[in-house]
Formats: sequence, structure tokens, C-alpha cells
Amino acid sequence: MNQRVKAAVIGDPVMHSRSPRIHQYWFEKYGIQGEYCAIEVAPAELNHFISHMRGEGFIGCNLTIPHKQAAMKMVDSLSEEAIAIGAINTIVVRENELHGTNTDAYGWLAYAKNHPAFANSLSHALMLGAGGAARAIAYALLQAGVQKISVANRTFEHAQHICELNPSRMKPLEWDAITSLLPEISLLVNTTSLGMQGKPALELRLDALPATALISDLVYAPLETALLREAKQRGHPTIDGLGMLLHQAAGAFHAWFGVMPQVTEELYHLAAQP
Ligand code: NAP
Repeated sequence: MNQRVKAAVIGDPVMHSRSPRIHQYWFEKYGIQGEYCAIEVAPAELNHFISHMRGEGFIGCNLTIPHKQAAMKMVDSLSEEAIAIGAINTIVVRENELHGTNTDAYGWLAYAKNHPAFANSLSHALMLGAGGAARAIAYALLQAGVQKISVANRTFEHAQHICELNPSRMKPLEWDAITSLLPEISLLVNTTSLGMQGKPALELRLDALPATALISDLVYAPLETALLREAKQRGHPTIDGLGMLLHQAAGAFHAWFGVMPQVTEELYHLAAQP
């Protein structure tokens, strides 16, 4: 019998994904015989792909844009995180059943917690953006015990919607009101796609932020965004997006194999290559 395992990241587009590089590194390190590849799956083919995963020997898959929400309806069970976040980034084939989970919140928090400034940054977080990744970050911030979370987004209604996760601790904010709130912010997280290669820049002056405020950017291409560069120049502690990518991958690997793989310096440098 063929004991080789199969896993993949599926998306559309997906060829830019760094997940194969990350998981292949762990497959080798932990002696797992098999392949992890990137498979382009168009939205119209998603149901077919997912329903055939069992028969084709997949241990599971990761999901990226645009499948994280649609795939929720195509699995047999969902984790608590997946239900709260409203999206899945990982499917586990378990005793012939498909289980959907979301490791994005775990990934961000696992990396952020390592930062010495994190423990003192939990009084008031400002989240920029209210898309798919923002829901995972909001869940992580609530889990971490952040007392107050303000959510600013270009489309105000999306910010209002995300705040329904916990209306007593989360408040929507008009994009134009960001600057006036900065003096009371202890943690700033950019979850928008602004600053990403090929996207417009994030235009935000940091002058009014307290010097101790921790700044996190989910964007990892480029690794040092203009936001992180300016934050460092001003002396702020910072968290880049690559660490979240690596730790969410670790969470998925754990969901498949029951082993939490190590995010090493070597892997960080490997994944940082464009
Ligand atoms: P998404 O669901 O498409 O959300 C995009 C967000 O950016 C929305 O809040 C959107 O506002 C905002 N936005 C887009 N263009 C804008 C503009 N021109 N001006 C102001 N706001 C704008 O995307 P996502 O999946 O949440 O991903 C967001 C970013 O996080 C991407 O760069 C992605 O690569 C990164 N990410 C990183 C990781 C990691 O592991 N590091 C994981 C997931 C995502 P509207 O609501 O107004 O459209």
C-alpha cells in the first residue's frame, strides 16, 4: 500500500503561495513521506475538489483566497474558531470525514505573544480593515484579552458587521477618524491589503501614536512594509506578517499530524525569499 501522504494549498490564484515551501520543509524535518503542493482550483470547481479529497488520499488541505468562506459549507464539521471567524483555512480528513478549522487567529497570536511588548499592549487595539483576515485577528485579540478593539475600515458597514463578534468590547470607527484615536492606542494591526506589492500604499501618519504602541502588519510581501519601516524609524516595537503565515501553517500541520512543528530561523529565512 502506498503510505505517502498528500496535502495541498488550494486557491485561485495560488502559484504565488509560500505554503508548499513551508510544509515541504517540515515534511522533510519530521520524516513525513509525501507531497504538499499548490493546486489552482476555480470557485466553480471547489465543491468537486473537496468532495474528492477523501478518495484521492489527501490528509487535508489549506485554503486561500477566494475559498475560505465558501468551503465552510462543504465540510462535515467545523471547529469553534472556524464558526466564530466565519471562514476556514484548513481541512482535515479524519476517519473519512472532512473537518474545517481556522488557524489564522492561532498563527497571529502565537507569533505576537513571543514579542516582549505584547503583554503591555492589550488595553486598546486599533484594527485597520474588516475583511476575512480581520475576523481572525479580532478573534485572536478577544482571546488574548484585549479590553477595547476599535475597527476602522474603508467600508464602514463591514467594520460594523465585524464588531458584532463582541459589541461590548469592539467598536466600529470611520476611516477619517483614525488619527484622532491614535493617542490612546496601544496596539495597531493592519489587516487591509494596503501596502502589499501591487496595491496602494497605506497612508497613515504615526505621529500621534504613543511611542510604546506595538505595530503589526499582516502584509508579508514586502516583508518590511512602509508601515513597519516608519514604525521602526519612530522606535515602535513591530510584528511582521511572515511570522503569522508560518505559525498558521504550523497550526495546520498540527491539525493533520498531531505534532506542532518548530518555526525556526532557518524556515523564516526560507519563507522570506520572494
Ligand atoms: P479581504 O478579505 O479582501 O479584505 C481586504 C481589506 O482591505 C478590507 O477591509 C478592505 O476594505 C481593505 N481595502 C482594500 N483595498 C483598500 C483601499 N484601497 N483602501 C482602504 N481599504 C482597502 O482580504 P484579506 O483576506 O482579509 O487579506 C488582507 C491582507 O492580509 C492581505 O494583504 C493578505 O495578504 C494579508 N493576510 C496575511 C496573512 C498572514 O498569514 N500574514 C493571512 C491572511 C491575510 P473594504 O471592506 O472597504 O473593501
